[in-house]
Amino acid sequence: MLAPYCESESAHPIVRELGLRGLELWQQFEPALLVRGTLVVAAQRDESELVRFARMTHGHQHLDQAGIGRLEPILADRFRQGLHFSDEAHVPPRAAISSLIGALLNLGVDVRFSNPIAEPIWLAAPAGGIVIDCRGLAARSDRTPLRGVRGEMAVVQESTLSLSRPVRLLHPRFPIYIVPWGNDAYMIGATMIESDSPTGVTVRSALELMSTACAVHPAFLDARITEYSVGVRPAFDDNVPKIGLRGKCISVNGAYRHGFLLAPVLAEIVADHLEHGLAFPQGLSC
Ligand SMILES: Cc1cc2nc3c(=O)[nH]c(=O)nc-3n(C[C@H](O)[C@H](O)[C@H](O)COP(=O)(O)OP(=O)(O)OC[C@H]3O[C@@H](n4cnc5c(N)ncnc54)[C@H](O)[C@@H]3O)c2cc1C
Repeated sequence: MLAPYCESESAHPIVRELGLRGLELWQQFEPALLVRGTLVVAAQRDESELVRFARMTHGHQHLDQAGIGRLEPILADRFRQGLHFSDEAHVPPRAAISSLIGALLNLGVDVRFSNPIAEPIWLAAPAGGIVIDCRGLAARSDRTPLRGVRGEMAVVQESTLSLSRPVRLLHPRFPIYIVPWGNDAYMIGATMIESDSPTGVTVRSALELMSTACAVHPAFLDARITEYSVGVRPAFDDNVPKIGLRGKCISVNGAYRHGFLLAPVLAEIVADHLEHGLAFPQGLSC
């Protein structure tokens, strides 16, 4: 999800500012990007969550039941009110990564997999070159006080569902979102657990993800589960990414739950620094 408006509900204002630029950059270089907005809904008993969410964010239109049905016909009789963040976008992440790697290869970049750079990372700079260290949690040290935030997700397949944009279901304890990945596949995510453990999805989380998806639409009951997986988000205390310079090494880290959204704009900031000597924005430098 490339959702700078929705994320501003809980993120630092700089994340929305950078995220808007990130969204612009994604639109320039990713043909698979879909700009259909995000639909935010809540069960009747949690409608106060919708009021709170609307107050904390910008860039949305209020929808009544008919408005929800016009956007997502299968949700027409499921929710009475919603919010539409029409400028937000989504992209199937694995297809996006493949197309980015393809673009790098076409530019003659030497891309290597399963080839970890040995510590200390700043010594890996070739003569006259630099290292840009984007190792996520692997860069954690006394100087880089990162923490891990575990995110569990599921991918399911169901042909009778026809959601065309990300849907967020607000809930005081288990807010979840469903993102259409194309070919009848839907990503259901994601937990937010203060832990750096990358081990398998717990039964508790699986139940939360699945029951909340079924609360969005009961057709999820018949979906086939094709994947359960876990990722650990690298984050600093304030959940804002940081860019730091140490000798010939630039570290870029702490993207937290915004790594896809912010990657192009963080890359742009580093490129501007290298090409034009521009300083890193104050809120990001460390
Ligand atoms: C379930 C889930 C859903 C998410 N959904 C979204 C979303 O919808 N939108 C969004 O914007 N963000 C989303 N995120 C957040 C996003 O995935 C993270 O912010 C992002 O992955 C952080 O990227 P990163 O490259 O900084 O770190 P990482 O993704 O942790 O990548 C670090 C990389 O460095 C490599 N590495 C480590 N050590 C070395 C070494 N010594 N040499 C070479 N390579 C090394 C690792 O193998 C890894 O590939 C989601 C995260 C999760 C877990």
